[in-house]
Amino acid sequence: MPAAKRPISKPDRRRPKPAPSATKASSLAKRKALAARVVEHLKVDYPEATCALENETPFELLIATILSAQCTDARVNMVTPELFRRWPKPEAMAAAPIQSLEKVIQSTGFFRNKAKNIKAASLAIAQRHGGQVPRDLEAMVALPGVGRKTANVVLGTAFGMATGVVVDTHVARLSKRLGLTAHNDPTKIEQDLIQLLPQNEWVDFSHRMIHHGRQLCAARKPKCNQCSMNSFCPKIEVEPQKPKKKEL
Ligand code: SF4
Repeated sequence: MPAAKRPISKPDRRRPKPAPSATKASSLAKRKALAARVVEHLKVDYPEATCALENETPFELLIATILSAQCTDARVNMVTPELFRRWPKPEAMAAAPIQSLEKVIQSTGFFRNKAKNIKAASLAIAQRHGGQVPRDLEAMVALPGVGRKTANVVLGTAFGMATGVVVDTHVARLSKRLGLTAHNDPTKIEQDLIQLLPQNEWVDFSHRMIHHGRQLCAARKPKCNQCSMNSFCPKIEVEPQKPKKKEL
């Protein structure tokens, strides 16, 4: 009886799949390389970029940053000269009559809540920190009305301390378009950016991204054809621009 033929097994020509950790590492390396490219371009385009909120002391910067929530920096800059003329120090701001305070900051929006927070934060600085804005992230976020973003702005800009990456609406939008994050939540975006950027770039990176967002990479109709990163930006979620109609 003839021996049963064994099926000839074909050589497996498929490439072996890389281990998941190796894939993750190479995609992280790629995103770090992309982030480095973005940093270099922003440095050339906006070498002097800094915070647009006018201030002369860390306390003034803190109050201006609280006021800038849901408001433009330009509007805040219109309000703060009068605000700091009347109540220049935390002790004075803490004792300001709430209705007078509300009146001065009214045009920045959400003024009742902001006035309450400004008074309470000023009181906490006067009572707990000897009238000085604390140089410490934990102490900063313990102040009323001060979240991580505000704390990072003040510690980074006033004290040069890179405690995190400031993620405002511009930084969030641009980070997504440039492929540095896939998230929408500011906390998760910050975690991605912290992983991709060297710590000594955190403060300036935010300032420069905010400038770029204002000047070219606007929420609607970004001017990609004028952008130095046009050749490598993946333009994630950017709607293609329609060509202008020719006039007849
Ligand atoms: S190429 Fe366009 S989408 Fe990308 S960063 Fe520049 S302006 Fe923004």
